Amino acid sequence: MSQYWSQLVHTLTPYVPGEQPKVDNLIKLNTNESPYPPSPLVLNALTNQLNDKLRLYPDPSSEDLKQSIATYYGVESRQVFVGNGSDEVLAHAFMALLKQDKPILFPDISYSFYPVYCGLYEIDHQTIPLTDAFEINPADYNIENGGIIFPNPNAPTGRLLPLQAIEQIVQQNASSVVVVDEAYIDFGGESAAQLVKRYPNLLVVQTFSKSRALAGLRVGFALGDSALIEGLERVKNSFNSYPLDRLATAGAIAAIEDEAYFKQSCEKIISTRDTLTQFLEDNGFEVIPSAANFVFTKHPQMQAEDIAQQLRKKAIIVRYFNKPRIDQYLRITIGTEQENTQLCQALTDILKAQN
Ligand code: PMP
Repeated sequence: MSQYWSQLVHTLTPYVPGEQPKVDNLIKLNTNESPYPPSPLVLNALTNQLNDKLRLYPDPSSEDLKQSIATYYGVESRQVFVGNGSDEVLAHAFMALLKQDKPILFPDISYSFYPVYCGLYEIDHQTIPLTDAFEINPADYNIENGGIIFPNPNAPTGRLLPLQAIEQIVQQNASSVVVVDEAYIDFGGESAAQLVKRYPNLLVVQTFSKSRALAGLRVGFALGDSALIEGLERVKNSFNSYPLDRLATAGAIAAIEDEAYFKQSCEKIISTRDTLTQFLEDNGFEVIPSAANFVFTKHPQMQAEDIAQQLRKKAIIVRYFNKPRIDQYLRITIGTEQENTQLCQALTDILKAQN
């Protein structure tokens, strides 16, 4: 009997998240969090909840937050779904919308949670190789499928697919659901959010974890036709009728209200990304053009793992992936200007020691 249970458990291959170190004095550039704190309005909103409201259950349908998001994107609140981080929103999308008779499609280099959800929900999938330049080619998504999902900008490459190409994929797959995972869209990309008004088969998923600096609160959302949203709601209500707690709801509403702070943080990150890209290119690294809050880069003469280990000794953590085709690349989250200066200095020292 015990063997039977252990076999069951071993059929699951869970997602392995990036390291969350237990010590504070590191420059943490490994999991694409914002290097800046959330808006001060968020802190006020959290304090108000803490002072008075925590003994009360939250609104199970998070209506106020849905309304804030709907107003921000110019859609109706029944076109908005909210969940505990976009990972949960994606999980519900896999279960409610992508579990079909035919295999679903996603790029061979993309968010490594997608195959995990396929395993969990027993969804067949087929991966489509990126081009040599790590781009998604819309024409490759013209084969029979039970749904399509990809991140835009892609993760971990950072490459952006233009809106026109997304529209092409959505149009040529009118009988499948196309999920665009826009976790990193606010760092220079154009969101497909407005397309949901015209295409009933498009679901756009976003998060408060990156550009709004709320990874710790766990808030994500989806925009789509109300029929798709209804599907997500049904799955959600079968799991947990209170997905978002009071702090998450109030914090997210405040974050969306502070547009000036949001824009300023994104601009700082984009500007630091430009500085880092220039530094890397000047020092012999190849850098994939990034529209995200990270860069994906390799040095032709050095092993990515080796650079990552040397940076770690200098108290800087970056990410590398032990996977075919990308095992020579480092993914470096954009930090504050000061963190970036320290990173560039550390890389200069590592390169000098190498020569
Ligand atoms: N999508 C992509 C492409 C990501 O990289 C991440 C972050 N790991 C997520 C979704 C999930 O983000 P969160 O659950 O914090 O909203």
